[in-house]
Amino acid sequence: MRACPPGALAHLQEIEIPAPEGGWPGTPQAVNVFNVFAGEVMVGLGDRVVCGRMHDARTRDSRFRSGVGLVVVPPAGSHDPVRVAWMPPVKAHWIPTIRIGGPSPVQQEDTLRLVVRTACLAIALALAFSALMGFIGARDRTFLVHAAMCLTLLLWQAALNGLTGYPVPWLPVGDREAWWQVAFTAFGFAALLYGLWSQSGVVGLWPRLRYVARWSVRAFIAVGVLVPLLPYGGLRPTWWLVDHAFLVLALGLTCVAALSLRRGDRRAFAAIVAVTPVLMLLTPPLLGGRFGMEYRVEIIQVVLTWFLIVMAYTLTNRYGQLRAQRDAMRQLADTDALTGLPNRRAGLARLDHCFAEARRDGTPLSLGFVDVDLFKRINDTHGHAIGDRVLVAVADALVADVRSHDDVVRMGGEEFLVLLPGVDARRAHARLEAMRRRIADTAPVLGVADLHLSASIGLATLRPDDDEAVALLRRADEAMYRAKHAGRNQVMGDSTEGPLDTFQPASPTG
Ligand code: GH3
Ligand code: MG
Ligand code: MG
Repeated sequence: MRACPPGALAHLQEIEIPAPEGGWPGTPQAVNVFNVFAGEVMVGLGDRVVCGRMHDARTRDSRFRSGVGLVVVPPAGSHDPVRVAWMPPVKAHWIPTIRIGGPSPVQQEDTLRLVVRTACLAIALALAFSALMGFIGARDRTFLVHAAMCLTLLLWQAALNGLTGYPVPWLPVGDREAWWQVAFTAFGFAALLYGLWSQSGVVGLWPRLRYVARWSVRAFIAVGVLVPLLPYGGLRPTWWLVDHAFLVLALGLTCVAALSLRRGDRRAFAAIVAVTPVLMLLTPPLLGGRFGMEYRVEIIQVVLTWFLIVMAYTLTNRYGQLRAQRDAMRQLADTDALTGLPNRRAGLARLDHCFAEARRDGTPLSLGFVDVDLFKRINDTHGHAIGDRVLVAVADALVADVRSHDDVVRMGGEEFLVLLPGVDARRAHARLEAMRRRIADTAPVLGVADLHLSASIGLATLRPDDDEAVALLRRADEAMYRAKHAGRNQVMGDSTEGPLDTFQPASPTG
């Protein structure tokens, strides 16, 4: 609390609250004045007179936090009135709310208001941070815009509720409170409009309105930027204009959102849910009603917080959408379109993974390199469409004998790779031999006359001196070529000696 600055009272509107009938009871009386949006507030009873502004927390009576107040003990039976004076408000109907009575209930209301005000600021701040985190994660501009929206509404709330003074003044409101309020109202409406335009589905219905959307948001920002240049007298008409322009646009967009919703755009529902309380708040005062004036600041803050929460919910949906898109793109990039198998890129990554795992755990790793025999001849004789069917059939035959779909890779053309993690050379040979037979048995199932189908398979198994996965791949490839040279339609191991190569090759077809 502080003494009133000289001359301040000259401009103030003043009311006197008379003492109760029979005079003051001689017990402490608290007087607290809320919702004075700009300039000095004077509160006095008898000789005690204090002044304060809504943002000067440091100088205000420490017993009041969201209003300007004082506690006095008027002598029992005295008839001094309580005097309250304030600057004429920029908005005619935004007049102060005065509480008078026992200190305890008056201070309780003050505390309650403070809790609501700080909670709303804290929520806006938390949502801004989470949107920034979302931007870092998704690199999507929408998150950045949402963070800017949260910060704008946070500053607007701070300018409205006087929390610009806590714990020390951090927004230079001072004598310019009224200007800040009009400017932040314009910025805040720009943020609300942006949210509404983006969620209402209007651009989907009428794409040309995209330009109207951009320019209406820019116009509100421009008004906010120009407000500090206005004389005090210009604030009232500007505020009137800003309020009415916003209300018209917001009502129009709500109707459009309802139309979009009828057409099945579910995002529009969020727009309607977010903006309805804003409309309910704005409409009565513009029509001359006084609904909610006593708790004007708190209601505005709750309504703005509601808007931000609903927008944050739509942002969560957006995050989900982006993840689904990214997963789908990754899936496309890693998958062979014809067979649905992992492609060369994904296959080599999987091979590296299996190689590292086998090295780490000391487990065996085998690899089969499968090449369809004389495939060019199949294409030439039966056409590419049949060639494609054959490739799909070969892929199916290979997949039927592995644990995971990821273990069969289409390397390109008619070449496939079979990964056999944890399988030693002898068992791998048996498995690949079974696959070779299954491929050879596929031709009759395809129902193509005179189709000769077989594959040559090279097998390589991890050796202690292999220092990278490519070495294994190269040996499997070489073994496959040896199988070709040995007459095709057979499985060949990766060494010329040893028991594995003594397997009896099946009779070649080409
Ligand atoms: P070899 O037994 O020596 O392997 O003989 P080959 O005919 O199988 O080998 P070559 O590399 O000469 O032929 C492979 C053919 O595979 C050539 C190419 O036109 C065909 N091809 C590659 N990709 C596809 C595809 O996606 N669909 C079809 N139908 N043919 C393909
Ligand atoms: Mg080939
Ligand atoms: Mg071939």
